[in-house]
Amino acid sequence: MDEIIRVYGASWCPDCRRAKRFLGDQRVSFEWHDIEVDPDGVRIVQQRNNGNNIIPTIVFPDGSHLSEPSNEELAEKMGLERTATMHVYDLIVVGGGPAGLTTSIYAARENLQTLVIDSKGLGGQAGVTERLDNYPGFPDGIGGAELADRIVLQAQRYGVEMLQAVSVTSVTSDREEVDVETATGDHYHARAALVATGSSYRRTGAPGEDDLIGAGIHFCATCDGPFYKGASELVVLGGGNSGLEEGLFLTQFVDRVTIVQRGDRLTANKLLQDKVAMTPEMDVLLNREVVEFKPKDDGSGKLGAIVLKDRESGELEEIHPAGAFVFIGLDPNTGFVKGSVDLDDRELILTDMGLQSSMPGVFAAGDVRSGSTKQLASAVGEGAAAAIGIRMYLEAQDAKPMHMMEAG
Ligand SMILES: Cc1cc2nc3c(=O)[nH]c(=O)nc-3n(C[C@H](O)[C@H](O)[C@H](O)COP(=O)(O)OP(=O)(O)OC[C@H]3O[C@@H](n4cnc5c(N)ncnc54)[C@H](O)[C@@H]3O)c2cc1C
Repeated sequence: MDEIIRVYGASWCPDCRRAKRFLGDQRVSFEWHDIEVDPDGVRIVQQRNNGNNIIPTIVFPDGSHLSEPSNEELAEKMGLERTATMHVYDLIVVGGGPAGLTTSIYAARENLQTLVIDSKGLGGQAGVTERLDNYPGFPDGIGGAELADRIVLQAQRYGVEMLQAVSVTSVTSDREEVDVETATGDHYHARAALVATGSSYRRTGAPGEDDLIGAGIHFCATCDGPFYKGASELVVLGGGNSGLEEGLFLTQFVDRVTIVQRGDRLTANKLLQDKVAMTPEMDVLLNREVVEFKPKDDGSGKLGAIVLKDRESGELEEIHPAGAFVFIGLDPNTGFVKGSVDLDDRELILTDMGLQSSMPGVFAAGDVRSGSTKQLASAVGEGAAAAIGIRMYLEAQDAKPMHMMEAG
């Protein structure tokens, strides 16, 4: 029997993209069959759906299938734990990326009953990163999925309870207890909580992008720029401060860096624009929109070409850089705490020196925190620092006389 999940669909189908992203987020391997180019795929889809073309149709290793499943149906089929065993914990960690998991390991080792809740798969962005070359302790680098699995195993070893595919929708506190509500309608209570929900890099949304992330499309020049040492050209999408800064950084690895900007002018500050203008290795293309990312046709699954549309003339042009770096903005995952904790002007969580937010008992660490560096090693470090801040907070709470606890 087949050991792999097969997803049958088409590139234009949003539900297919959602299902593929869900499986990818859970770090589940699957085989993609585009029925528009695979006649055998059409036959299988029709066979499974009484002659109808229903996509996505997902065939599982046990021979069963789901047609157009919701994420909840997929989670159930894959046996993901979505309800916790208890309702009250010492600590609830929202976000099972490197920061949150590190805090959970520290807390559980100190015998705090700890629950981690993640809206996608455990491991966060690190878990879906192809290769990590700058994380200390791994001289040959390490695959992101392998590192994530190791951290999860370590958390399991200390008895951390973990839920996946469960979004947290609100975190509130009445000074004595934190209430965490999930999209499944459950409420969990804890003496303290950590928000470590990271930030999402904005994507262009162009066809082909999802499949080529980590395989030619990147969001971090410090992390992935060195992979391109000696290549002839890289493209940076985005003409704001980050795009230009990272583009200048990338010139040390390649002969040419081309900034592609959707609008008719760069939006970075004047200083950066002047620097770019004075750097002979840099080019700027204005008024260009990405229409498609194409894979190489050698079957390697790597980025082969970017199709750009000139927004003035409507003309299409194909460029063939070794890689593309996307810097079109960052969305902190803080929507569910907006209005309840203080955020900075970029909507990142403001904390004090002990990483406590403006809400008593609620801490923040990693990429979601204002002032964070968006690096794995820092996220892990902040996770450890938050655990120590939480311990001190809980000790202070325990030391409070009863009348003060009641007064809040
Ligand atoms: C493609 C890519 C490559 C990278 N390469 C490197 C590298 O080479 N070296 C390096 O140092 N750094 C790298 N980084 C950055 C590094 O991965 C991050 O700095 C690090 O993962 C941040 O950890 P975190 O725990 O703060 O957040 P994340 O890893 O983002 O984890 C946050 C978690 O919170 C969950 N979540 C979000 N919202 C909710 C919610 N409402 N309810 C429940 N859970 C929620 C998410 O599903 C996610 O699992 C890379 C990032 C990307 C995207």
